[in-house]
Amino acid sequence: MADLDIPPARQLIDGAWVAAADQGELPVLDPATRAPIQPVARARAADVDAAVAAARRAFPGWAATSPTERGAILRRWADLIAAHVDALADHEARDVGKPRSGGRLNMYIAHGIVDYFAGAADKLTGVTLPTRTPDYFGYTRPEPYGVCAVIIPWNVPAVLTAANVAPALAAGNTVVLKPSEIAPLAPFALAELARRAGLPPGVLNVVTGLGPEAGTALTGHRDVDHISFVGSTVTGRAVMRAAAENLVPVKLELGGKSPNVVFADADLDVAIPAIVTSITENAGQNCYAGSRLLVEESIRAEVVERVAAGMAAVRTGAWDQDLDMGPLVSQAQYDRVRGFLAEAPTAGARLVTGGESAGGRHGDGWFVAPTVFDGVDSGMRLAREEVFGPVLAVQGFRGVDEAVALVNGTDFGLLTCIWTSDVSRALRVAADARSGQVAVNQFHDAGVIGFPFNMQKESGFSRGGGYAALREYTQEKAVAVRLLDRPSA
Ligand code: NDP
Repeated sequence: MADLDIPPARQLIDGAWVAAADQGELPVLDPATRAPIQPVARARAADVDAAVAAARRAFPGWAATSPTERGAILRRWADLIAAHVDALADHEARDVGKPRSGGRLNMYIAHGIVDYFAGAADKLTGVTLPTRTPDYFGYTRPEPYGVCAVIIPWNVPAVLTAANVAPALAAGNTVVLKPSEIAPLAPFALAELARRAGLPPGVLNVVTGLGPEAGTALTGHRDVDHISFVGSTVTGRAVMRAAAENLVPVKLELGGKSPNVVFADADLDVAIPAIVTSITENAGQNCYAGSRLLVEESIRAEVVERVAAGMAAVRTGAWDQDLDMGPLVSQAQYDRVRGFLAEAPTAGARLVTGGESAGGRHGDGWFVAPTVFDGVDSGMRLAREEVFGPVLAVQGFRGVDEAVALVNGTDFGLLTCIWTSDVSRALRVAADARSGQVAVNQFHDAGVIGFPFNMQKESGFSRGGGYAALREYTQEKAVAVRLLDRPSA
């Protein structure tokens, strides 16, 4: 990993690794052992000011750089990511606690995203507009916003860095990125590779600090032109309030409570392993995690038994053991998830496998066993709130209408997965589901290029992932021209 070691207690501002202005530091811990990995800088308002100023200085030059050249730099960045997959994956796996193979998968995804926007950079066009007479000419031009603030959480830092930074840069913006201080090493390493790819100083700056310090300094900064936020719904509201104060456009990608909806005619041999993976990948700490299992009553007992067996077989361990699932990321997550595990049985849910007493079985790590609760009622917190852990809530349904009512029965609207061999039924449920994404007979979007990462309701409003993401990082200028000169006949 030596080639991509991150200097301790530093952050990347204006192309240089610098300490916090007040020399403040924060520890990054290994979730499997709680042992410190290395310190990172603790950015406060002065550091955010420096990063925003660097991004502002770099903006005119970067915006004026040919989109083909911007795309070429992004392509070199993508190539460097591909060449450093293992080192990047180790950073992410160690920081977040996910298995090394999970980190590697994330790097392939991050590479694909950067590569996609490298190709898209010089395909961004405006339109010519119809005019009432030939004496007028109208057109639109897509323009970058300027300095974009990007705030991301700890769960999939490399993918979220790529998904937000790559389209922003491709469109000609400069960026100040604030990863979570819990897991900043992969974003730092990606930024270092962008630097090596030829990204000019100040175009991408990365500051690490606490949400209430660095986060609020960034979202409240008067010289930020656009804010992207990924994280919890509660913090999303605070970010939107800060954006309102400065009248800055904001895009929010928030939580989820995604259902796997299993009809009696589903191919269970395909569905069961995917359902298990959907809630145990990254220890359930994904916004789109399949945290609800809605199953037709006639097959409920069989499905619950098979899913529980699959969950019980999930092997947990530290990142470098590279098993199926790691620990939760932090003490706060551990306490939060165990709170749900303690509450659910008292609220009336039936524990099928896992549970509170099965946690903490790997020494000091924040491990929680894959857990299934059956008999969950829509009124329970477990059915409505994001647990962000490997905890599955099972509810039964009879018929399509009841299934759709359950699908739409939470405040979230991220992803709905439908398992059936009846294509008409799948399309009807897909139409009625109030979620930004739907997958049929698979979990998530495998096989589709540029699948928009859309969301509805309290899951936010963002269209990352496809070409539309490039548009999200541009503002459209409309130009109307009156032609005064007429060529002589
Ligand atoms: P947060 O939403 O609190 O944090 C996300 C990012 O925002 C972090 O970089 C954080 O910094 C920063 N931040 C925190 N407060 C502010 C603020 N007031 N202004 C600007 N930025 C801020 O998520 P947590 O990490 O605390 O996780 C809590 C819960 O949120 C999870 O249990 C889960 O339910 C949900 N969550 C959902 C995610 C998703 O992808 N849908 C991702 C992460 C969390 P810092 O890390 O320093 O606090």
